[in-house]
Amino acid sequence: MIRVCEPNIGKKEFEYVKKCFDTNWISSQGPFVTEFEKKFAEYCDTKYGTSATNGTTALHLACATLGIGPGDEVIMPTFTMIASPNSVIYTGARPVWVDSEMETWNMDVPKIEKNITKKNKDIMVVHTFGLPVDMDPVLEIAKKHNLKVIEDAAESHGALYKGKKVGGIGDVGCFSFYANKLLTTGEGGMITTNNEEYSELAHTLMNHAFSKERHFWHKHIGFNYRLTNLQAAIGLAQLERAEELLNLKLSVARRYTKALTGVNGITTPPQANWAKNTYWMYGILVDKKKFGISKDDVMKELEKKGIETREFFIPMHTQPIYKKMGLDKGKYPIAERLNMQGLYLPSGTMLTEEQIHYICETLIKLKKK
Ligand SMILES: *Cc1c(COP(=O)(O)O)cnc(C)c1O
Repeated sequence: MIRVCEPNIGKKEFEYVKKCFDTNWISSQGPFVTEFEKKFAEYCDTKYGTSATNGTTALHLACATLGIGPGDEVIMPTFTMIASPNSVIYTGARPVWVDSEMETWNMDVPKIEKNITKKNKDIMVVHTFGLPVDMDPVLEIAKKHNLKVIEDAAESHGALYKGKKVGGIGDVGCFSFYANKLLTTGEGGMITTNNEEYSELAHTLMNHAFSKERHFWHKHIGFNYRLTNLQAAIGLAQLERAEELLNLKLSVARRYTKALTGVNGITTPPQANWAKNTYWMYGILVDKKKFGISKDDVMKELEKKGIETREFFIPMHTQPIYKKMGLDKGKYPIAERLNMQGLYLPSGTMLTEEQIHYICETLIKLKKK
């Protein structure tokens, strides 16, 4: 089976992990953690990094740091992974959905403003599958309405918006280092920011809100979202290989695009002239009318041929648990269409040219017209 995405870890990762064993530092107090935070912040062109146990806790920590709480609303795309809205719900606030746009598969930025209410405190953008959201208009809307901007950049390490790294464009950026992300620590996460106050508060909240002046003295409800030295060791090694890994990703995408461009009924991933797509996952849309078979059938057929794929996000406003919570109001046709037509092909950085060739050939053979 060609898996949809596998981590690419090697000698350097092992060497750094071994250092943790050799020095007996395995908890979050080990030196790799601070080093990883510093280097990852540099990688994102931001001043500060705060590590967390995963992308979800990084998002929750960001929400808590910005003071989001009961009664507040946060605007975000319905087309995302459930961790984005859950992080808001954990604080007692509620998400407000915005539909996507066909051109970028990202949140439809011009639709944000209509959804702003008095309760709205923040905008959470999600840079989907490696393509940054058009951030300038988002920042303009945020400024006009005095809102903070959280970037869920879990899928977009190293992506550029008008030459700027994602994660440093809004007020806070959140990353995941899950095994299928471009850079991985197995499980892990990070907040990036240029705001010293946010960085300090996030570090405090991440570690039980112990105070500096007196250890067991707490002024906030904190969390234990501490990344371990072992994970940070892997992360540091991955970071040193960031360019290599990104180039591999881009070359996988180039090969797919070359083979699939012009195939009637298949849409290749979006590009935008203001952004650099990092193609975290190589997504395609299958138009049943033109391709002759549906996305669901394409997925089933590929599975039979040993090719694992995954469908696009199921929009948040259709989730059973959110329906129960009354979060199913409104119409979001583009997000629903993306789910109906979208799937991603194997996208790991260790895919060979032959495997990609096999995948494309198998896919094109499924075409019924
Ligand atoms: C992966 C991902 C997350 C969650 O990250 P975890 O490390 O799995 O908690 C959040 N948002 C998006 C958009 C993601 O793709």
